[in-house]
Amino acid sequence: MKQLIDKLRTEHSLTREEYKALLSGRTEELEQYARELARQVTVLNFGTDIYIRGLIEFTNICKRDCYYCGLRRSNTLCKRYRLTDEEILACCENGYHLGFRTFVLQGGEDGGFTDDELCNVVKEIKKRYPDCAVTLSVGERPREIYQQYFDAGADRYLLRHETADEEHYGKLHPAGVSLQERKQCLWDLKEIGFQVGTGFMVGSPYQTVETLCSDLLFIEELKPQMIGIGPFIPHKDTPFGNEPAGALDLTLFLIALLRLAHPFALLPATTAVGTLAEGGRELAILSGANVVMPNLSPNMHRKDYSLYDNKLSDGAEAAEARDALDARLARIGYQTVTARGDYQEV
Ligand code: SAH
Repeated sequence: MKQLIDKLRTEHSLTREEYKALLSGRTEELEQYARELARQVTVLNFGTDIYIRGLIEFTNICKRDCYYCGLRRSNTLCKRYRLTDEEILACCENGYHLGFRTFVLQGGEDGGFTDDELCNVVKEIKKRYPDCAVTLSVGERPREIYQQYFDAGADRYLLRHETADEEHYGKLHPAGVSLQERKQCLWDLKEIGFQVGTGFMVGSPYQTVETLCSDLLFIEELKPQMIGIGPFIPHKDTPFGNEPAGALDLTLFLIALLRLAHPFALLPATTAVGTLAEGGRELAILSGANVVMPNLSPNMHRKDYSLYDNKLSDGAEAAEARDALDARLARIGYQTVTARGDYQEV
């Protein structure tokens, strides 16, 4: 099995059978081996620098009804909010002074925040902070709209595929949406010229070794610049409220495999992995992650962007606490950097 890890490290690709063997035959020793190798590859390519992204959760209004997500439209207990353009720009100003050079505007699929308005906000951010990258993460849109975002100056786009297995996709989402459409969005985004991020939840209900193999193979095919994975965590007011959370060890193993397959990708240590376990984010970094995305949203709304229960938004998750984050990273020998952190192969 260690030979398969070595092969992934040198060839950056495995067959479905090989991925399957790794995932179903995983032992603690194999996990340690993969994680240590992934850590070494990351240090070789990025040193001990950790890129930071200021996350602005600008609307939690969503027309979609994904079974796992606390922002789903059927969740009437969710207190909805939408930031104004001025509020978003104020988050950026605050973030710029804290040393952020990437702003990630994430939100639900909120028809009330028009595409024109979003384009104008992007233009204004790029005008005020020409040295910053803007990342959007607002779900599925027609290709023309993605093109408008790009022309307005957006540099990157995050859209997790969630699962690359058609049948599994159907168990996580209501009828009327499809994996094929979501994948098409990713291909469109790539063709337009965005740096693209995709990913999936670890341990989502009905996930199997086979569906995970499909995820790893799809990511090999797409070759995204960024890959975000984190454990599924139940939200009590969703149909999956009583499902178990994803496991930390599997999450770390998958981060390691993704790092070995994608040596130059930007891999965040996600909020979900930090929420699942104390020190989870540090473990993710020691398994190959090299990005953290602290929360820059206005304090009064942070609790309302509740994708899952107990989602962290303070302490080292909060952008204003960059010192606290740096102190935690220093303990494991890493440091945040102010650079934009674009994808590059060296
Ligand atoms: N509307 C945007 C942003 C979604 S929120 C979009 O569709 O891309 C960002 C990510 O949070 C999702 O892609 C999903 O993978 C993750 N997420 C949602 N609910 C979750 C849960 N219960 N546990 C863990 N991650 C979750």
